[in-house]
Amino acid sequence: MSEGAAQPVERHLPTEEARDLFALVRELIQREIAPHAAAEEEAGHFPRELFTLLSESGLLGLAYDSEFGGGDQPYEVYLQVLEELAAARLTVGLGVSVHSLACHGLAGYGTKEQQTEHLPDMLGGGLLGAYCLSEPSSGSDAASLRTKAVRDGDDWIITGTKAWITHGGIADFYTVLARTGGEGARGVTAFLVPGDAEGLAAAAPEKKMGMKGSPTAQLHFDGVRVPDARRIGDEGQGFAIALSALDSGRLGIAACAIGVAQAALAEALRYATERRQFGRPIADFQGLRFMLADMATQIEAGRALYLAAARLRDAGRPFSKEAAMAKLLCTDTAMKVTTDAVQVLGGYGYTADFPVERYMREAKVLQIVEGTNQIQRMVIARHLAGPDSR
Ligand SMILES: Cc1cc2nc3c(=O)[nH]c(=O)nc-3n(C[C@H](O)[C@H](O)[C@H](O)COP(=O)(O)OP(=O)(O)OC[C@H]3O[C@@H](n4cnc5c(N)ncnc54)[C@H](O)[C@@H]3O)c2cc1C
Repeated sequence: MSEGAAQPVERHLPTEEARDLFALVRELIQREIAPHAAAEEEAGHFPRELFTLLSESGLLGLAYDSEFGGGDQPYEVYLQVLEELAAARLTVGLGVSVHSLACHGLAGYGTKEQQTEHLPDMLGGGLLGAYCLSEPSSGSDAASLRTKAVRDGDDWIITGTKAWITHGGIADFYTVLARTGGEGARGVTAFLVPGDAEGLAAAAPEKKMGMKGSPTAQLHFDGVRVPDARRIGDEGQGFAIALSALDSGRLGIAACAIGVAQAALAEALRYATERRQFGRPIADFQGLRFMLADMATQIEAGRALYLAAARLRDAGRPFSKEAAMAKLLCTDTAMKVTTDAVQVLGGYGYTADFPVERYMREAKVLQIVEGTNQIQRMVIARHLAGPDSR
């Protein structure tokens, strides 16, 4: 059995510091992540101690301000780190991306006091974060969320159920979107809720098709009391904060998708050069050569698209449409490439003795999270043609 992530991708990194960072990341992957990925995924084990190491190594706050313990790296660099982590193990790459998503609100909209108090621990102090927008009855239509926060003196009392929360039940802090006003997007406010808050309980993790090492759970808020000092941004600003976080988060999902696809291609290439049929390596047959060529081309196109969107973000330009395009193209690419990788391995590809069936199961979730690919198309079309007139 082998892990397909081993083949290094040649990267054009903007600085010496970024090149040093990649040497560190690759060493960490080889030592701490790749050797355990298959067995821990099979066992449904979340590597919590690894995330403490990633935090202490500066990898949980890479794209954030160094004033608060971040790494000051451009998105162009951060996303390529995510890509390599996800190639080794999606639970880790996606976990870092979700943690970053959970920090986005406070880093972008918090007060200086809030940032000074909380961000250093969130970005590099060993804490793990989660982002709570979805609910059992509001997924794509996220603005219809029903979890309520009611003012009580200097506090808020939060009641309701969040669904599908990555790191649900194990996170140290939750960025929670709750209704403080009327219906729709304008009635939503964001809060930073500690993981050990009284009245907060997680259900048993969902039994998922893939990414079994990454816990996904419902969270029940039963009158959870949160001081107003933990409100992020203004009352009614929460949905705008949530969407802004998702613009950046979608780039993270795109990078993770390319990582999974790259790992699948590496494994398909390795196998195709070793496996012999009709007296020759199967990599000699044009039917497979063209398939491998298409896989490699689709991966390069996806990587180029997410990097182009990242460079817009790094330049302070609008990038919502491009982030949606990158999420759409890269995750569809991951699904196609991982499915083709299973085909290249034939019957062996369909067994758990090789990692490609895991990659295929993992790719599927990336077409769903942080806005399904139908929702990405809606976002792109809205930018192209304006709001739909219904
Ligand atoms: C493993 C995993 C981890 C997750 N982690 C998190 C997390 O950390 N935090 C969080 O808040 N959420 C998380 N989610 C939730 C995820 O964001 C939602 O599953 C997703 O937004 C879709 O919502 P839904 O599942 O309710 O599907 P629905 O919204 O019910 O959609 C069902 C189907 O209808 C389609 N559809 C819906 N509306 C339209 C439309 N207007 N036009 C065309 N098609 C439409 C969808 O594309 C989909 O195919 C996670 C989900 C999974 C599976």
